[in-house]
Amino acid sequence: MRYDFHTHTHFSDGVLSPEQLIDRAIENSVEWLAISDHDCVNGIKPARDYVLENQLKINIIDSIELTAQSDFGEIHIVGLNIDPENQSFINLINLQQQKRWERAEVFDMKFQNIGIDGLLNELKRTCKQVVTRSHIARALVSLGHVQDNNQAFKKYIGKKGRIKVKTNWIAMEGAIQAIGDAGGISVLAHPTRYTMSNRRLGYLIEEFKINGGDGIELAYPSLSPDKKAWIELHRKKNELLASGGSDFHYPNLKWSDLGRFPYIDPDTPHVFDLIKNELQ
Ligand code: AMP
Ligand code: MN
Ligand code: MN
Ligand code: MN
Repeated sequence: MRYDFHTHTHFSDGVLSPEQLIDRAIENSVEWLAISDHDCVNGIKPARDYVLENQLKINIIDSIELTAQSDFGEIHIVGLNIDPENQSFINLINLQQQKRWERAEVFDMKFQNIGIDGLLNELKRTCKQVVTRSHIARALVSLGHVQDNNQAFKKYIGKKGRIKVKTNWIAMEGAIQAIGDAGGISVLAHPTRYTMSNRRLGYLIEEFKINGGDGIELAYPSLSPDKKAWIELHRKKNELLASGGSDFHYPNLKWSDLGRFPYIDPDTPHVFDLIKNELQ
């Protein structure tokens, strides 16, 4: 059974439409696909319609990737198998998206202060739904201030970049609660991609579990075997379920294509065990 439980469309910072994402997933033999855009569920309905209309052999798992604030810094929580029509969940999504636009305005002001104009206009022109730092990176490229996205993150908007904007995201506990209330399960996304010590990451995983988190990503591109073993240790200790996904954004990155991520031993307790009955 090939699956991918973490992917993006052009409604957040992916580049493919939901339809193109489905086509590519099928090409890569993915049978179970979670569409998990940043703070957004707009990709789900078009994906489902496309699968139905064309009678395609793929199962969509309605999902999201929420940005949340933990005691240890900003984190991402993948909510798998959520109800995208749950009204209080939609209210939360709207609030997160509003915070993103407010953040974009502050970014725009800070960039103006260093002589870079036109960012907000470019963002309004290019964003379909959710504004992300990936859009800011692309805008800085098209406005001619950097060569590529990598340089934009390095020089300006990444962790060590010049321009920082603090955002008051939903708290981790609230995000887990909201995902649960919308019928979904919470997975701590790409744990080793947060910049924190292993000691703090260990505490974060513990808090995630204490606050009702269900799973943790144990497999994603560029995760070294050493780090994977470290996560597995903490997954087990905290009785979390394993999940895996490509975090797919762009088709040109071969190493992070749909359905491609490190192997998870089939004996490992998996989020799929929890949701498959509801999915079939
Ligand atoms: P945001 O949620 O708007 O802060 O944007 C976060 C997104 O930016 C992530 O989901 C990644 O897709 C992208 N991103 C973060 N850091 C980098 C980086 N160093 N290089 C390229 N993309 C990045
Ligand atoms: Mn992203
Ligand atoms: Mn993420
Ligand atoms: Mn992601």
